[in-house]
Amino acid sequence: MEERLLKLRHSLSHVMAQAVLGKFPDAMLAIGPAIEEGFYYDFLLPRALTPEDLQDIEQEMRKIIKGRHSFIRRELSREEARKLFRNQRFKLELIDELPEGEPITTYTHDTFTDLCRGPHVDNTKDIPINAFKLLEVSGAYWRGDERNPQLQRIYGTAFFTKEELDAYLTRLEEIKERDHRKLGKELELFHLSDEIGSGLVLWLPKGAAVRSALEEYWRSAHFKAGYSVVYSPHIARLDLWKTSGHWDFYRDNMYSPMEIDGQDYELKPMNCPFHIQMYKMRNRSYRELPLRWAELGTVYRYERGGVLHGLMRVRGFTQDDAHIFVTPEQLNQEIINILNLNLEILRTCGFSEYDVFLSTMPQKHVGSDENWQKATDALKAALEKMGLTYKIDPGEGVFYGPKIDIKIKDALGRSWQCTTVQVDFNLPERFHVTYVGGDGLEHQPIMIHRALMGSLERFFGVLIEHYKGAFPVWMAPVQVRLIPVTDKQVDYCRRVVVQLRDVGIRAELDDGPDRMQKKIRTAQQEKVPYQVVVGQREAELGQVAVRLRTNEDLGPMPLSEFKSMLLRIIDGHSQALK
Ligand SMILES: [Zn+2]
Ligand SMILES: [Zn+2]
Repeated sequence: MEERLLKLRHSLSHVMAQAVLGKFPDAMLAIGPAIEEGFYYDFLLPRALTPEDLQDIEQEMRKIIKGRHSFIRRELSREEARKLFRNQRFKLELIDELPEGEPITTYTHDTFTDLCRGPHVDNTKDIPINAFKLLEVSGAYWRGDERNPQLQRIYGTAFFTKEELDAYLTRLEEIKERDHRKLGKELELFHLSDEIGSGLVLWLPKGAAVRSALEEYWRSAHFKAGYSVVYSPHIARLDLWKTSGHWDFYRDNMYSPMEIDGQDYELKPMNCPFHIQMYKMRNRSYRELPLRWAELGTVYRYERGGVLHGLMRVRGFTQDDAHIFVTPEQLNQEIINILNLNLEILRTCGFSEYDVFLSTMPQKHVGSDENWQKATDALKAALEKMGLTYKIDPGEGVFYGPKIDIKIKDALGRSWQCTTVQVDFNLPERFHVTYVGGDGLEHQPIMIHRALMGSLERFFGVLIEHYKGAFPVWMAPVQVRLIPVTDKQVDYCRRVVVQLRDVGIRAELDDGPDRMQKKIRTAQQEKVPYQVVVGQREAELGQVAVRLRTNEDLGPMPLSEFKSMLLRIIDGHSQALK
């Protein structure tokens, strides 16, 4: 954040603290920094704050600002500081922690003095009166420790102009409206139940319809790109995870073993060792490589309860995983193949802007420096050949090899990490994976791990927010809703539904008791792409009257014409509605 904005926001947190003290003279003050999106201050208060309190506090802040008070810096001895803040227990703790010799400073404006390093604006007149807003109150603990008393954190934001503030608030509103947890509930896409457990997702019929459309497309794209699809179980013997190294290096993310017939088994956190066992079931020749095995593999990883978030951070999820075994000579071309497939899939799903990162050799690593160099060069060459601009994350590679990460940008310009392509020298070594080369000798293949969407759960969450629940036709849970004008057209509508379903179109009939207008509204709210209204005339002529969810009226057309338009749009994975 630029210094000017930081000063403005931090000064407002002081003004807010003064206003809160005016209202609650016994308030205990904790800390009040400027943050990326604004500022906050933590208070210990005698009661919970209400939205009305926030309004009062904001009003009071404006009064204070209008007083044109200067911010005055002062240096104190530890003794003076302790005396000044004798009634503020959190401040006393902070004072005691300041190292000997470091100056203790306060900033004062009007009647309020805070223990603070600054910097601040010179005078409250430098704070634009109409470009800040208090946003919300949330719970926080002193030093983030749950054993400490619960504090109330007031969040606010501030800018230099009202226009900037308004733009920010509009964006906040937009983010709230797109929240996948809100839309997931309203549109009945998925459900998280305490009785199932935290971070474990139930895909409801409508969410599952989106997922199976995605999976179907994913499978056909992989088939065309020369992959085979495989399946593997959800548990495996603990020994396998010892050999793979996961038990030593990844145990914090794994669940406790379970015992079966006297042997320990582990829920899988990754799919790699399974594919390696498939590879090793017999000898492999160089003629078989590259070997591309893809799996929609469900894995389980421990995440702390506090970081779980809707579909974005969960404990059980399905990766669109693949492992590719290549000879060293094939590495370059294969990375290009992977990136091509990746961009095609992301584009089809509606994402055409990316941030690309190349992570290089970390301090702790396996494999020779020469191999690392070769692999890193291969990744670079592929990115350059594809004309992708990228940033280098020095030393951020995994210990077993360099990687490319791709973050996609959604409709609001927010970035989401999805794709990862990782070169691995480690697992082939640990599992003694080999192939017989043209020279008749055994060689070690290079393994590439890659996931394009990442986790289907997370990707679905991003899709919901990106499209605001209005999925492109090929993904839409319900593609066509048939709405009869009167009960007399119900039979015709039923026949239309059967005909559309016969060719794989997700059509359904609304034969409920609501009136036609209400049914259209319901379909609009559910973001059904096509609302087909059928009156006597349409029924007699074998037609349908088509409305789009954008409110556009396509008017009546022969059913056969509607059907072929839909199939063209669905099969082409088009983003368009007509
Ligand atoms: Zn300060
Ligand atoms: Zn893997």
